[in-house]
Amino acid sequence: MSEIRYNQLHDTYVIMAPQRLRRPDFATIKTQAENDRLCPFCEGNEAFTPKEIFAMRNPESMANHRDWYTRVIPNLYKAVEIEAPYQKYDGNFVHWDGFGAHEIIIDTPSHKISMSEWSLWEMVVWLKTLRSRVEDLRRDHRLVFISLFKNEGANAGSTMSHSHTQLIALPIIPKIQHEMNVRCCEYFEKNSQTLMESIILNEEEAKVRMVESYGEFSAFCPYASSYPFEVIISSKKNIGQIDTINDVHINELVTLLFSIIQKMKNIHGDVPFNLWISTPPLGVDAPSSEPYRLMIRIMPRIYRLGGFEVGTQMMINPVEPEFAAKLLRGEEDV
Ligand SMILES: [Zn+2]
Repeated sequence: MSEIRYNQLHDTYVIMAPQRLRRPDFATIKTQAENDRLCPFCEGNEAFTPKEIFAMRNPESMANHRDWYTRVIPNLYKAVEIEAPYQKYDGNFVHWDGFGAHEIIIDTPSHKISMSEWSLWEMVVWLKTLRSRVEDLRRDHRLVFISLFKNEGANAGSTMSHSHTQLIALPIIPKIQHEMNVRCCEYFEKNSQTLMESIILNEEEAKVRMVESYGEFSAFCPYASSYPFEVIISSKKNIGQIDTINDVHINELVTLLFSIIQKMKNIHGDVPFNLWISTPPLGVDAPSSEPYRLMIRIMPRIYRLGGFEVGTQMMINPVEPEFAAKLLRGEEDV
């Protein structure tokens, strides 16, 4: 049984998930052939995964069988589980029995190990799958935060090589997310403009950190990038959150994301990265999503974090975002 514990010193939460110690480690699987044969995420190996919660599949096909485009399954080595009783104990030590959802989205039926191998169509179906899962889970008002993320490559924390995305839904809002929500709300009230709209307008004026725009979306290397070659994709306009975005805007967003992933590959090859997608505020007391913008953050993991970064949560970034953006725009040779 997992547990969410409150850290009084740092005002943060920790998920204790001892069952995750049993996870397989793909780095120990030696050859590609062996990897393909053993991979439970490949089409044809559906029997080796838990039963699917959701799938985008050929309407003629049967659940938990072949002919799917994306599959969503509960994580076998989950950090939290939806069935756990929802309890809170007061006193010096506060914890929540690990209530929440932990799902794996298998991004593609073929054994692709990097987003840079995906087709544009695969990326569209993937984003529509994420839209459906958030739309469904937000109906449970006990869940107040959903984290949607990809870890690509062992250095970015991935333990399965087959392309997949994770969703963790929690009964608490992590501190860093809560503080960002508060900042966005305060900025919106004071300026009648969202913080993201203001940032993109400033970046458009400065030009040096802009990488590319398409439709309603812009991609830029943030001014205070935490990671070398970090890229944020977002919009000045209110085009909804991941659960309410329409198909036209999904196509625009994916076209831009596809281009950025290819540009990154041209510079770094298959470098490990984390990709994070913002989700709407949830729960019965949630504020309107008006002060927020849908955002995708790509964080290449070129360097490992050291003691300073881990201890202070203050990053050291050796690559200036102005230089990273120039390289991504193709104006400078690698
Ligand atoms: Zn596979």
